[in-house]
Amino acid sequence: MPHESRIVADVEIIPLCDAVGPMGAEIRKPLPEMFPGSSFPDDAEWVLHFHCYLLRAAGRTVLVDTGIGGTDSPAASWAPVPGRIGGELAAVGVEPADVDAVVLTHLHSDHASGCVTGGVPAFPNARHLIQRAELDWVSGQTREQVVAPIEDLIEVVDGDAEVFPGIRLLHTPGHTPGHQCVEVGDLVISGDVLHHPVQLADPTITYVYDTDPAEAVRSRMAILARAAVLAPAHFAEPFSP
Ligand SMILES: [Zn+2]
Ligand SMILES: [Zn+2]
Repeated sequence: MPHESRIVADVEIIPLCDAVGPMGAEIRKPLPEMFPGSSFPDDAEWVLHFHCYLLRAAGRTVLVDTGIGGTDSPAASWAPVPGRIGGELAAVGVEPADVDAVVLTHLHSDHASGCVTGGVPAFPNARHLIQRAELDWVSGQTREQVVAPIEDLIEVVDGDAEVFPGIRLLHTPGHTPGHQCVEVGDLVISGDVLHHPVQLADPTITYVYDTDPAEAVRSRMAILARAAVLAPAHFAEPFSP
């Protein structure tokens, strides 16, 4: 069952539920270790949604994040592959070739792996917007299997920028060096600036896999101060509130 879409500032924002599941054993830890300083009930489990977002406005189609990818994805060791973004797009009448721009909030394997299918770009007509700091940082399997195949489609972004009129990128480092959010009106598609609702209640709670936890707190506070509505990647609900 698809999540409900919203219209903000004349932009239709459609959540695409790429996957739902717990984190695989390879990187899973008890929740109080994942979010140091937090407290959870003893039996608390974390079932993540993996949300991408499709934006439609003025005849343009923008995809924010591409999900966990197929069974050969770099995310396969820990995420519930295969992702179902293709089916989610088809359900709203969008073919991969229709996508004009792909924004990658960051290059973690659960956000970017769906860019490539069968070793070739999944969205062949889209420019792929990625922060320079993220491209300088990414390494290993994700660089080889996800970034290299889309190299000719990448548009490098330095800091805040505009994708199309009314759709803005905000550089929000901390989770990764080149993490970026997408702002539409007073709504921010926030990627991994927040991972769990405990960080809404206390934005100073860090996440164990943030590359720079202190900078991540600063970005989180800045986005919370700026946005009326958040669209985080991993909450059960695609919009908050
Ligand atoms: Zn979902
Ligand atoms: Zn991430």
